[in-house]
Amino acid sequence: MAPDATTDCNQGRSRPTKDSDRLNLEARTDITPALRIIPRDQHIISRKNISKAALRVLYRLNEAGYAAYLVGGAVRDLLLGMQPKDFDVATDATPDEVKKLFRNCRLIGRRFRLAHVVFGPEIIEVATFRGLGEEDGEGDRHIVDGRIMRDNIWGTIEEDAVRRDFRVNAMYYDISDFSVRDYVGGMQDLDDRMLRLIGDPATRYREDPVRMLRAARLAAKLELRIDAQALAPFQTLGPLLAEAAPARLFDESLKMFFGGHGLKSFRMLEKCGLLKFLFPVTARALERGDDALRSLVEQGLANTDARIAEGKSVTPAFLFAVLLWGEVRDLAHYWIGQGMAANEAWEHAAGKVVAEQCQRVAIPRRFTFTMEEIWSLQPRFEQIQRKRVFRLMTHPRFRAAFDFLLLRADESPAVRELGQWWAHAQQLPQDMLAAALPAGGGGKASDPHIPTASGAPPRRRRRRSGGKSGSV
Ligand code: ATP
Ligand code: MG
Repeated sequence: MAPDATTDCNQGRSRPTKDSDRLNLEARTDITPALRIIPRDQHIISRKNISKAALRVLYRLNEAGYAAYLVGGAVRDLLLGMQPKDFDVATDATPDEVKKLFRNCRLIGRRFRLAHVVFGPEIIEVATFRGLGEEDGEGDRHIVDGRIMRDNIWGTIEEDAVRRDFRVNAMYYDISDFSVRDYVGGMQDLDDRMLRLIGDPATRYREDPVRMLRAARLAAKLELRIDAQALAPFQTLGPLLAEAAPARLFDESLKMFFGGHGLKSFRMLEKCGLLKFLFPVTARALERGDDALRSLVEQGLANTDARIAEGKSVTPAFLFAVLLWGEVRDLAHYWIGQGMAANEAWEHAAGKVVAEQCQRVAIPRRFTFTMEEIWSLQPRFEQIQRKRVFRLMTHPRFRAAFDFLLLRADESPAVRELGQWWAHAQQLPQDMLAAALPAGGGGKASDPHIPTASGAPPRRRRRRSGGKSGSV
C-alpha cells in the first residue's frame, strides 16, 4: 500500500481489535487492518434499501449462529446513496453449511466456491470468508506465476477484507447490530471520492489483471478518481490482460458497457490507456482520428445507457458491432479497392476483425453472427430497387441494421441522406413505396421520387468495380 494511503487508512480510526491483533498476515505484510466500527446512527444504510431476499439470508445465517454481513459493492453503493444492483453476503459458514440452511441453495464455482441462494429471479451470493494462508488452510488455493487460479482457503473476516480489491469494496454491514465494519479505510476513500487498492497495486494487478478494468469501471460508475498509485502501473501491466481468460473479459465487458454507465466506462478505459488491451481493434481505429467513428461509438454507448435507464432490452451484438465497425469498414474498402468482390471483401473483413477481437474478449458466436449480419446489411441499404428494398425490410436484422445506419450519419452526407431515405420509406404505405421504386435492373437511389426528409431523393452513388455495392 502507498505510504500516504496507509497513513490515511489508520487516521481517525479506533485501535485494532483483538481479532486483528491476532491476524496472520504474512502474505500481506503491506497492510495493517485497523477496524473502525461505524454504528447505525453514524451511517446512512437502512434495511429499507436492502433487498428482502438478502435480509432473509443474513437473518437466517445469523440465527443459526454464523457471522453474516452484507459486503462489497452493495455496502459501498448504499453508503454512496446509490441502489446496488446485487447484494452479496459474507459469512463464516462454509458453502456446505450454507447449503444445509437453505433449500433454495446451489453451490457454484471452482475458482471461487460460492453458495447461491435463489429467490425467484434474485440470487444472493453467499461467500465464505477467504483467508490469506497458503496450502495449509481449509480449502485450497492455486497460484501460477503470481496469478490466482483457484482460491478456496477459508479465513477470518480481516483476511477476507484485505484480499478484496479496493478499500471501498471491503466494508461489511453487520446484520447483528446494523453497524458497518471498515477494516482498510474504505470510508475515508468514499469521503475523499477516491478509489484506492488494498495493498501494493502492482502485486494486486499481477495477481489478477482484471482489477485494472474494475478500477476503470468503478471509477466511471461511482464518479471516483483513481488514486495515482493505482493508476501508475496500467501502462506497464496492462499487457497482462492478454493472459486473462477471454470469457472472463467478455463478462467484464458486459459489466462495463451494459451496467448503465457504458459511455463513462468507455471514456475512462480510453483515458486510462486500457482500451487498447481490451479492444485493440477499436483503439487502433479511433487513434486514426476518425471523428465519424468516434461519434458512432459514443452515440452507440449513449443510446445503450438510455435504453437501460428506460428498462428497454439491449443486445451486446449491436454494441460490439459498433465498437468494431471502423476496422471492418476500412478493411472491406481496402480489399474492394484491390479488386475483391464486395460481398467477399465484407465477409473477409468481418471474419478477420472478429477473430482478432475474440482472442481478447470471447464474444459468443450467437453475437458475432448477428454482428456480421448487421455489417453485411450496410452496403445493401444502397440498393434502392423495389425487390431489394422490400427484401431488406423483411430481413430479421433489418431494424438493428437500420439503427446502425442512422448511427453512421457522420460518416458522410451520403450516408446521412441514406438514413433519412430509409426512415422515410418505412413510414410510407407499402403500395406507395412500391409504386415509387424502380422494379430493378439498374435502378438507382435517385430514381424513385420518394420525397426524402430533406425533400430531395437520395443522391446517386457511383458503384465501385468488383461488386454490386459495398461502397458505404
Ligand atoms: P458491481 O457494482 O459491479 O457489482 P462490485 O464491487 O460489487 O461492483 P462484484 O463483481 O459484484 O463487484 O464483486 C463483489 C465484491 O467482491 C467486490 O466489491 C470486491 O470486494 C470483491 N471482488 C470482486 N472482484 C474482485 C477481484 N478481482 N479481486 C478482489 N476482490 C474482488
Ligand atoms: Mg456486486
